[in-house]
Amino acid sequence: MNKYLSNPVLDLISKIAFETNTELYIVGGYVRDIILKRPTKDIDVVVVGSGIEFARKMATAIGGNTNVSVFKNFGTAMLTYKNYEIEFVGARKESYRIESRKPIVEDGTLDDDLQRRDFTINALAVGLGKENYGKLIDPFRGVEDIKNKIIRTPLDPEATFSDDPLRMMRAIRFASRLKFSLDEVTISAISKHRERISIVSQERITEEINKTMLSERPSTGFKLMDQTRLLEIILPEVHAMKGVDVMKGRMHKDNFYHTVKVLDNLCKKSDNLWLRWAALLHDVGKPLTKKYDECSGWTFHGHDYLGSKMIPAIFRRLKLPLNEKMKYVQKIVRLHLRPISISGEEITDSAVRRLLYEAGDQIEDLMILCEADITSKNKETVRRHMNNFRIVRRKLREIEEKDAIRNFQPPVKGEEIMKTFGLSPGREVGIIKKSIKEAILDGIIRNNSEEARRFMIVKAREMGLEPLEGKNPENLRTGDN
Ligand code: ATP
Ligand code: MG
Repeated sequence: MNKYLSNPVLDLISKIAFETNTELYIVGGYVRDIILKRPTKDIDVVVVGSGIEFARKMATAIGGNTNVSVFKNFGTAMLTYKNYEIEFVGARKESYRIESRKPIVEDGTLDDDLQRRDFTINALAVGLGKENYGKLIDPFRGVEDIKNKIIRTPLDPEATFSDDPLRMMRAIRFASRLKFSLDEVTISAISKHRERISIVSQERITEEINKTMLSERPSTGFKLMDQTRLLEIILPEVHAMKGVDVMKGRMHKDNFYHTVKVLDNLCKKSDNLWLRWAALLHDVGKPLTKKYDECSGWTFHGHDYLGSKMIPAIFRRLKLPLNEKMKYVQKIVRLHLRPISISGEEITDSAVRRLLYEAGDQIEDLMILCEADITSKNKETVRRHMNNFRIVRRKLREIEEKDAIRNFQPPVKGEEIMKTFGLSPGREVGIIKKSIKEAILDGIIRNNSEEARRFMIVKAREMGLEPLEGKNPENLRTGDN
């Protein structure tokens, strides 16, 4: 263990502890992550005595203008040093009341402090003081659980989850991120107390969902949410995708399991949290659009559109940002069928151009989702789809090089149209502008101002308009004439 302690930050903490004869320990996630060889920048220190006082001593020793952030109510203090965030807290004992996940806190010993921790793998401490430098304290066999990749609570799981139901989400998040499992007792305790999640703030729950989402294989976490029945409480729209219907021997796939598979596939290609959300929600419109048709079997017509319409309410409830992140997720969900729908028999340039126009800068992310969306077990189907997407991607590149459609700017602006034909703002200007855009997207003309101007003249002539040229430019017609 000692070799892991040779770190300038821990050295300084320990030096001050020796000088002031303080009993203190590094605890929790930092110790767990040393053992897992996942170095972290967050260090939690438990001081038997005052954590705030110790943090102040450390700040003085560092000198300069080291800032200590003190949270008196929690008895904690935090400072940053050499890129590490170090949090100091006095050892404490906690007891809970039924209505709140905020405990009553009293001073305690290290043992008390480790007992209040959520999981055995987080209830580890290593001494940094004179008496016990480098000594690992592991009252609940956390090291063994790390070895066996298992998440257990130090005390009775039912009391642990009922006291602070956020721990249910943390258990699932750790399982997903660390690739650990929850044993039967833990799963059934979570399941039993799942309704207690209602005393946890939505922000906290969502933070844990996001952390789960950022794991390498988030399906682990979402399946655990399902297994413990937390899913139907916190993400009912995702839960609604579960299940398979059968009509006259024809069935559709289980859209929940499909979705988490898509999510896992996508996570191999992208770390973007919002693209991951789009993957989780891409088929969320399916349960409401599901129909059985005698000819085509099960259909989900319009689930892309309906799904994108459902996003704002989901984001609002989850307290996710209602800004461009949400619009991005909506856009990806709305367009998620487009690449596959244009890649049928013949992939036309104009279909690709239109897709590029609508997706804009999100085209690459959209393609990543579409490729992840292929979960068929039939190798031939997978090969065919992937090949089609390769063609779509190639055409996207060609068209982008030729026509720069991605961030489409009209090559002839409204003002120029008005000036040329002596129009004031109105319907006619709009019609001409739109027809130029359509002509570009259909490949009738290329995206440059010269061709666009020529097209404008032809289109205007059809509408009975002639360029003013020699005419008096002051002689303006109104657009409605
Ligand atoms: P990470 O920082 O990777 O999210 P962590 O284990 O360090 O993981 P933190 O939230 O930073 O988690 O908490 C630090 C430590 O505090 C944990 O390791 C655990 O011992 C304890 N802890 C945090 N939240 C709780 C809780 N809700 N109930 C009990 N103990 C907790
Ligand atoms: Mg931490």
